[in-house]
Amino acid sequence: MRVTLALPGTTVRDVSFEPAQITVTVALRRRRLACADCSHSSRARYDTRTVDSSWRHLDLGRLRLVVRAKLRRIDCPTHGVRTEGVPFARVESGFTRDFEDLVAWLATRMDKTAVRRLVRVAWQTVGAICARVVTDQLDPGRLEELFEVGIDEVSWRKGHRYLTLVTDHGTGKVVWGAQGKDTATCDQFFAELGADRAAKLAAVSTDMGAAYLKSVAKPGHAPNATVCIDPFHVVALASDALDQVRRQVWNQLRAVDPDKAKQFKGARWVLLKRPERLTDTQAATLRKLRRHGGAAWRAYGLKEALRAVFAGDLTPSETTELLDRWCVKAARSRLEPFVKLTGTVRTHREGILAAIRLGINNARVEALNNKVRLITRRAYGFHSAQAALALVMLACGPITLRLPYEQTHVRPHSV
Ligand SMILES: [Zn+2]
Repeated sequence: MRVTLALPGTTVRDVSFEPAQITVTVALRRRRLACADCSHSSRARYDTRTVDSSWRHLDLGRLRLVVRAKLRRIDCPTHGVRTEGVPFARVESGFTRDFEDLVAWLATRMDKTAVRRLVRVAWQTVGAICARVVTDQLDPGRLEELFEVGIDEVSWRKGHRYLTLVTDHGTGKVVWGAQGKDTATCDQFFAELGADRAAKLAAVSTDMGAAYLKSVAKPGHAPNATVCIDPFHVVALASDALDQVRRQVWNQLRAVDPDKAKQFKGARWVLLKRPERLTDTQAATLRKLRRHGGAAWRAYGLKEALRAVFAGDLTPSETTELLDRWCVKAARSRLEPFVKLTGTVRTHREGILAAIRLGINNARVEALNNKVRLITRRAYGFHSAQAALALVMLACGPITLRLPYEQTHVRPHSV
């Protein structure tokens, strides 16, 4: 029987069949031993491990496929006595590269349950695999040639666990991330970037929180950059303000007329959704709300007006004029959440308008932000920030994931 396994550098020695598993014993073809952690290699073996090493490989039909090999140990001048590395698996992994590449590809495209059932591994293991693939594949040059970047936070787990992410506005890719969302987290990015590359930054955009702005303003962090505020964060604050007004109105209405309050069930989503995306039923609720008028309807008008300011079809001077006009209107609205928001917008007016002037694509930044949020929700079951960050990098970073058969370095050999 001819067996093709497509595992680089190996020769198949034995194949054994069990009810649910095939075990393929291979031997490494190369004579030299390689350190798993560096490029050191040598013909001298320290010893041979008494137990076989094994790796789960891509399933064969319904059967699990396990690759076994007897490995030697090498005495590396840097790393000491280590088990030799193999060309078909990553360091410290119980899976082949092909298996891990497949799992990483699936994790960016499929929900958690589907991945787990299809590949039959625990979700935490998927997290560990993602982390290994990212370490292996992340372009080390991704921090070169950064000119316009965005800094944003995202929650990766319930209970206020956050990641700070840095996006290259030029490519629309997430290029850096770390656990946490305070000034010190952001400082880590600038430390890694270094003074030379930081001096090339022409624009840094963030939300309106003090933590990132404080870090960006530190000496040497972004000395030549214009600080911008991403307008979609401003619109998000308007949505929050609208939601506060809606709650106040409904609480009052419920107290005096519970039946009428019931008519507006589902109003929350109707008010927060973009009008062009409403279903027929939702559009009918919106018409009812308009007839009802009052504070909720005025708040809705203010939110939509602010969104229109940043729709991307205005010149910078038109945007400036409309934003200022919006502030005057919102300040006089007697809707307390909007009066408060006006203060925030006025504080950050220069930054908001700088984002428009420099042409930072708000729609694209928002779309990436939404994609990151979707991916991190999938990462909620991961137990480490590193694994959650890895999934974000796989899905939104400068990594091209290829399925095993799409990889050019694979040359099948048979025995
Ligand atoms: Zn070494």
